[in-house]
Amino acid sequence: MPKFVYDFSEGNKDLKDLLGGKGANLAEMTNLGLPVPPGFTITTEACRHYLAQGTVPEGLDEEVSQHLAKLEARMGKRLGDPDDPLLVSVRSGAKYSMPGMMETVLNIGLNDRSVLGLAKQSGNERFAWDSYRRLIQMFGKTVLGIEGELFEAELERLKNGRQDTDLSAEELRGLVDTYKGIVREHTGREFPSDPREQLDLAIKAVFDSWNTPRAKLYRRQERIPDDLGTAVNVVTMVFGNLGEDSGTGVAFTRDPGTGRKGVYGDYLPNAQGEDVVAGIRNTIPLQELERLDPKSYRELLDIMARLESHYRDLCDIEFTIERGKLWMLQTRVGKRTAAAAFRIATQLVDEGLIDMDEAVKRVSGAQLAQLMFPRFAEDAAHRPITKGMNASPGAAVGKAVFSSERAVELAEKGEAVILVRRETNPDDLGGMIAARGILTSRGGKTSHAAVVARGMGKTCVCGAEELDVDVVNRRFTAPGGVVVNEGDVISIDGTTGAVYLGEVPVVPSPVVEYFEGKPVDDELVAAVDRIMRHADSVRRLKVRANADTPEDAARARRFGGEGIGLCRTEHMFLGERRKLVEDLILAATPEERQAALDALEPLQTKDFVGIFTAMDGLPVTIRLIDPPLHEFLPDLTELAVKVATAGEAASERDRKLLEAVKRLHEQNPMLGLRGVRLGLVIPGLFAMQVRAIATAAKQVPNAKAEIMIPLVSTVQELEIVREEAQRILAEAGVDAMIGTMIEVPRAALTAGQIAEAAEFFSFGTNDLTQMTWGFSRDDCESSFFGKYFDLGVFGVSPFESIDRSGVGRLMRIATEEGRRTRPDLKLGICGEHGGDPASVHFCHELGLDYVSCSPFRIPIARLEAGRAAVSAEGSDSR
Ligand code: PEP
Ligand code: MG
Repeated sequence: MPKFVYDFSEGNKDLKDLLGGKGANLAEMTNLGLPVPPGFTITTEACRHYLAQGTVPEGLDEEVSQHLAKLEARMGKRLGDPDDPLLVSVRSGAKYSMPGMMETVLNIGLNDRSVLGLAKQSGNERFAWDSYRRLIQMFGKTVLGIEGELFEAELERLKNGRQDTDLSAEELRGLVDTYKGIVREHTGREFPSDPREQLDLAIKAVFDSWNTPRAKLYRRQERIPDDLGTAVNVVTMVFGNLGEDSGTGVAFTRDPGTGRKGVYGDYLPNAQGEDVVAGIRNTIPLQELERLDPKSYRELLDIMARLESHYRDLCDIEFTIERGKLWMLQTRVGKRTAAAAFRIATQLVDEGLIDMDEAVKRVSGAQLAQLMFPRFAEDAAHRPITKGMNASPGAAVGKAVFSSERAVELAEKGEAVILVRRETNPDDLGGMIAARGILTSRGGKTSHAAVVARGMGKTCVCGAEELDVDVVNRRFTAPGGVVVNEGDVISIDGTTGAVYLGEVPVVPSPVVEYFEGKPVDDELVAAVDRIMRHADSVRRLKVRANADTPEDAARARRFGGEGIGLCRTEHMFLGERRKLVEDLILAATPEERQAALDALEPLQTKDFVGIFTAMDGLPVTIRLIDPPLHEFLPDLTELAVKVATAGEAASERDRKLLEAVKRLHEQNPMLGLRGVRLGLVIPGLFAMQVRAIATAAKQVPNAKAEIMIPLVSTVQELEIVREEAQRILAEAGVDAMIGTMIEVPRAALTAGQIAEAAEFFSFGTNDLTQMTWGFSRDDCESSFFGKYFDLGVFGVSPFESIDRSGVGRLMRIATEEGRRTRPDLKLGICGEHGGDPASVHFCHELGLDYVSCSPFRIPIARLEAGRAAVSAEGSDSR
């Protein structure tokens, strides 16, 4: 029978799969000899069993009893003992941190009798009754499913404007009675007084909390698999609410916002942990603890330094001080902003804790993408109406909204919104995802809003205390009487904490300026530069661009592109040239057709000259025209109406056009007459393009053209086009590789044959995904993918990230069989996946030669290719 319960002394930090992040790190700290309250962890395996079967696994109760007995022996107290009760907390803790998404119950073991024992032992009656009311409140909400508001409303009523610390023992005792009444009324039973029953019910409730809607939503957002389950930690209670010599706090070993070294955190005297995250009272900066309790403060700093060198990374911690004694309640490698990630990685290299390979693993393409977002311009015309804390960087502009529902509603209509709240809680998750940015008036950098926003990479300003947020009337008031109503546009700067009325203009990020080649003197840019250089030095994949104008080509080069992997030629047929394409389609005789092609050819040649010149000797893969012809023709309905209303007066050209449009109309244009099929059906079209390439290549002496045929399904198609292209190239005396896209499943499956006629393959994974799944590219994402996400059919769109087991399998077959036929076959990818981090790693594993993506994603692909080469899963601080 598997072991379902581990004492903290039995685990270690590498057992996150089994013990969850919190449990594994509590074990690690215990083994380091740090002051961790004793306890044990129930494994994720037990949770998975419970979620699948609806019952806890056989043997779990017995194991819990054994570990509890050991804990009781060690503490010299029994759970819920009337004279001197041992109390425990029951805390969730999955492999990846899901802040505030799952449940925790504190003070298990209290009942009408043990509360008196606790009062006696602590010499603090108020504390005992406060702990008891907290238990009933949390247990009622989490375990018994009673609306939390009911308890909060009673607490608020009792406080009547005072702080919770002002409530007397007598008042809290009355509140306990009120709470018990709520439990009775809403569950039809008494609050369970048996401590073991409390414990067992709490454990199950934590298991169940894995599947709350908000936890599911968070996992989807963060791409955390749904089937991991959570571990449950049963931890001896230590109390931060025993008086002014007690308290609770959170701290980071470095600033998670900027990466700067220093003491960084929030402390709340005389409180329990959940008060900090909930933003019940405003916290004080951690530095002030030095004054309040110098001994604990120094011990804390020592422990933080030790943790950082042990984990070789930024750690975040939760701690409690109980009557001058420091206890560590949690640590983990901390979430950080993208800027902090780059800075910290290079700082740790300088401190000798990690090497450059490790530094590359410590950052991600997604973080780099965030650093490339624009920021607000220094603009004298806009003065902040207030300032809060710079909790999560970026520049966000949108309409102020005051509820999560409204944020979702407006965002669905395509509006940019800023979610404004006094503080957020896990129920606001939907609104936070929908909003461009989040603004709160309460809570520190470790409040729920700040932690979650940072995790999502969403702009957040928190704790803007001067704002009076009135969610009921949907408005806030800033100093000077400025009133912002729902729908008014505001701008928030997560980098500085400034809040502005109206829309502030944005400017490019310094990181983009650096990629553009401008000199930028900035510490962050220096860190990015260092990491990019190392990624470039270790990566095996080359990175090319999807670009089809000289401007994009030039940007691609500035961003580090090593060639063009996909130059789509179809845009060159639009605009004013559309008329020439119409002529081509309407041509009734070979002469007319040739005349249209002859008119197009010099224009095409000019296009290619521009691109070859911009790429200055780097390879340029030009794809011959791909999309269906109707895309170049007028809209069927519009034209039909035009011809019908003109009646007899309709022009001859319009009539002919209408006929052509009707003839070329397709039910599913993406699967009809396009790609190589078009080239075979319209004589001279591909030939014209190849001639234009050859002529341009002769004009640009170092041009390196590669000709790519789209939508090939069978080698015969390719052979016909290839023969003609080779003849034209030979006549012009130009050398160019000829290859094909692999976009049709049949092409992948017959890659061994296709490689006989292709010198390179480029995976067109947009079409390959469409055809492998049978999903129409243009119709699916908006029509039913939302439902598919809800149903968990997939966590990420296969158009965004390569579906390894389906599309990826075809790519593997094509790679292996293509190379078997032609060992020096060059292989790349040019679908949208070429710039997606996970897909870049897959391409590395497959052994492709390059990925090709839009110019702005080139740096991301370079970095991810480097990370793939140092075989990184990276430091995963999800
Ligand atoms: C593809 O199909 O992946 C591709 C790059 O071609 P397009 O998107 O132009 O069809
Ligand atoms: Mg395609």
